[in-house]
Amino acid sequence: MLKWDAPLEAIRDGRAQGRIPTSAIVRAVMAMCFCRLGSLNALGHTAGSSLWRRWLGRGLPSPDTIGRVSGMVDVDGVRALGRHIYERLKRGKALSPPAHGLIAAIVDGHELHATYKRHCPGCLERTIRTSNGERIQYYHRVVALSLATRDLRLMLDAEPILPGEDEVAAALRLLDRVVRDYPRAFDLVQGDALYADPRFFNWAIDHGKHALAVLKNDRRDLLQDAGRLFEDIAPSLTQDRTVRHECWDLEGFTTWPQVKTPVRVVRSRETRSIRRQLDGQVEEPVSDWFWVTTLPQAQASTGAAVQIGHDRWGIENQGFNELANQYHADHVYRHQSTAMLVFWLLTQLCLNVFTAFFRRNLKPAARVAVSMLHVARLLLAELYLPLVRAPT
Ligand SMILES: [Zn+2]
Repeated sequence: MLKWDAPLEAIRDGRAQGRIPTSAIVRAVMAMCFCRLGSLNALGHTAGSSLWRRWLGRGLPSPDTIGRVSGMVDVDGVRALGRHIYERLKRGKALSPPAHGLIAAIVDGHELHATYKRHCPGCLERTIRTSNGERIQYYHRVVALSLATRDLRLMLDAEPILPGEDEVAAALRLLDRVVRDYPRAFDLVQGDALYADPRFFNWAIDHGKHALAVLKNDRRDLLQDAGRLFEDIAPSLTQDRTVRHECWDLEGFTTWPQVKTPVRVVRSRETRSIRRQLDGQVEEPVSDWFWVTTLPQAQASTGAAVQIGHDRWGIENQGFNELANQYHADHVYRHQSTAMLVFWLLTQLCLNVFTAFFRRNLKPAARVAVSMLHVARLLLAELYLPLVRAPT
């Protein structure tokens, strides 16, 4: 389903001439991600596997070479490979919208690592109070964008936050590129409370998209205005299996004048029924959500807006957690800005391909029988088996 030889072979790097083609470096990194090896050294220990000649058309480059060349790889080439995979999935009808009919592009920041010791020109800095006084901590952070489609959550692109800028500024740079590369891939952009920011909302309005963000106290005027109006309105009530929703929904707010159009505020007070395993007692925790959006009620009902608002959790739960815990995306393979971005983008790409393969190519019975991790371990076993037969 996902033939990618041409875009993969087209990826270049900054070496004047290299004995080892860039594509061999990229393929080796992707194999490391698919097998979830988690370190270049672990990858290097598999150099004796006969599979490398089949996969790369040559032996495995050394861990040092893979790390060094990754820092020179043309990031645009890696992104073009991501676009190719998106197009293939789109053509294969794998990216249909959820039931409410709208595809959201969800942006969120993610910290790759933090250290007091090593730093590079691309490091962000913050002062941390420790028991030994104030210390400067160095870290790298990216803004990633994922698409919430009906069956797949696709990690589409990422952009590093540069020294001296805030997360929203990096997100706008990311969105400028994504809307150019994937103009019709999504209907709205959304983020957490940080994105209840006029720059983000006006960007959406200027590009013919809608915006949605969690509304918290940082937009106090709007929140108070909505809260007051909601007091006089009876909520609409819905109940699913375990959650009771009381919802309020009004549009036409002009209390946020920095945004070019009036906005809509949706509130959902959610009461869950949870039976405690310990003593069988029923607990009813309540959470209260506010969202601000440009989406009109005519285009998204209250229920749809609440659903879209909650879809944002997926980037944390399925996106970042899986990337970090299963795919070792937070590991610093080489502390250099380009290398870190290249490793992150390739890991995102492997997560997309692997998930699409698992959900779309495996028969339902096979998906029930085995987990994605199990399939990854089978791949790893294939890589290791020649080593067991002929140890080096
Ligand atoms: Zn750094």
